[in-house]
Amino acid sequence: MNLEIPYQILNYIDGAFSVPQNNQYLDNINPATGEVYGQIPNSTLPDIERAVSAAKAAFPNWSESTPEQRFRVLNRIAELIEENIDAFALAETNDNGKPLWLSKRVDIPRASENFRFFATGLMHFASESHSMGEKAINYTLRKPIGVVGCISPWNLPLYLFTWKIVPALAAGNCVVAKPSEVTPMTAYLLSVICQKAGLPAGVLNIIHGNGPNCGSEIVKHPDIKAISFTGSTRAGKDIAAIAAPMFKKISLELGGKNPNIIFDDCNWEKMMRTTVQSSFANQGQICLCGSRILIHEAVYEKFKTEFIARVKELTVGDPLDTNSKQGAIVSKLHFDKVMSCIALAQQEGGKILLGGNSIKPEGRCINGYFIEPTIIEGLGADCRTNMEEIFGPVVTLQSFKTDEEALQLANTSDYGLAATIWTQDISRAQKMASMVHSGIIWVNCWLLRDLRTPFGGFKNSGVGREGGWEALKFFTEQKNVCIEL
Ligand code: NAD
Repeated sequence: MNLEIPYQILNYIDGAFSVPQNNQYLDNINPATGEVYGQIPNSTLPDIERAVSAAKAAFPNWSESTPEQRFRVLNRIAELIEENIDAFALAETNDNGKPLWLSKRVDIPRASENFRFFATGLMHFASESHSMGEKAINYTLRKPIGVVGCISPWNLPLYLFTWKIVPALAAGNCVVAKPSEVTPMTAYLLSVICQKAGLPAGVLNIIHGNGPNCGSEIVKHPDIKAISFTGSTRAGKDIAAIAAPMFKKISLELGGKNPNIIFDDCNWEKMMRTTVQSSFANQGQICLCGSRILIHEAVYEKFKTEFIARVKELTVGDPLDTNSKQGAIVSKLHFDKVMSCIALAQQEGGKILLGGNSIKPEGRCINGYFIEPTIIEGLGADCRTNMEEIFGPVVTLQSFKTDEEALQLANTSDYGLAATIWTQDISRAQKMASMVHSGIIWVNCWLLRDLRTPFGGFKNSGVGREGGWEALKFFTEQKNVCIEL
């Protein structure tokens, strides 16, 4: 299959490719080189209107199709992503700056898995009935909502895009979706594949553009009845403010500032190896990264010495080079933000133990946006550095004396997405897991994902849960029928 990407990509509306109505485009930049390498539609309300009309027209047929029919086409898309993994992985890396081996090993296979997971899941999706003995029987229907909006971020572009559009489609909805304007390419390739796979026109519409002109028009549109959003807490607040008075269903997966709690009785080697990953994988740009490392005082110095030595080994460089463990930061804007956070940490009295600087790799990446993995100590729990999400290759170290203190430090955060706990003591692990205010807890592991489990956060990390039945339920409206016998 020819999956070449044109210099100007197009919107995918009603099963066909179309230019934005205003004929305006945004530059797309490769963060590893700093060069403009393509353009994407700067879509606005008229494009959303066309997409909504197409989705409304497609809805009756799609929502009434059988689970087997929907399974077939969604599963075919999974196969086509797999068959074209090289083209997808390269597009993801050129757009996002992440190492090519990571796109190939994680992002793209996982996007394909999302299709397969929900395609098969929909075949087993059942609703409940409640008997009132001889008096009556209740049964609950789950109906697709109609036209729904899905908006996703740049950090795991295709993986998070598919994590929401596939359950929406599987449940029988028609979708108007917007990938991040910073990383649009794999969503464009997905639209090419959807056409080839025979997804009926209008069922999925992919519109490119930015937050203010395009994303917020999706949120505001009266015919889009539910919004599934992953992104920053700031944008999540704006979306909630618009959607709430319109009584739209919303699912918000937002920021994190996750504690990684290390007790002195843990499996040391496994903890060290995993902590390097949970701190810096994808340049620290995963909402689940453990950016606040809390260490028992008995092993604080040992941890610090060994952690610095291991992180020094992480080669930062050209994402196309197989030796690069760390690639580029996603954009100049985000690079500047992360660098300003490092400067703020120093103003707040933090001591930089490792890193703290930008990097200019030799060769084609000389103008790219690279930052050294950075380790900081000496800051209190409630300073801005430890309270605000940085979303880059920056972690802080804090020590604690008791379990209670560890818990207090962990919960000193307005966020509550994920936490990692390292201990061999099962009672302590269980107690900490139940008392840390986070929606996702990993004990003696990190990022071990079972797609059936609920995914989402407490506090400023969001509203609702994705994953498994939770996602299919979100994209349906329940109707209870009570029959007196
Ligand atoms: P962002 O909020 O800037 O943008 C996310 C998406 O929303 C983009 O497509 C953007 O164009 C759009 N958008 C922006 N403002 C909007 C608005 N007012 N209305 C509608 N759409 C709008 O986030 P980002 O910088 O792309 O991603 C990084 C953030 O995402 C981090 O905060 C990270 O923690 C979070 N994130 C959360 C999860 C999770 O599952 N909880 C996963 C990944 C990333």
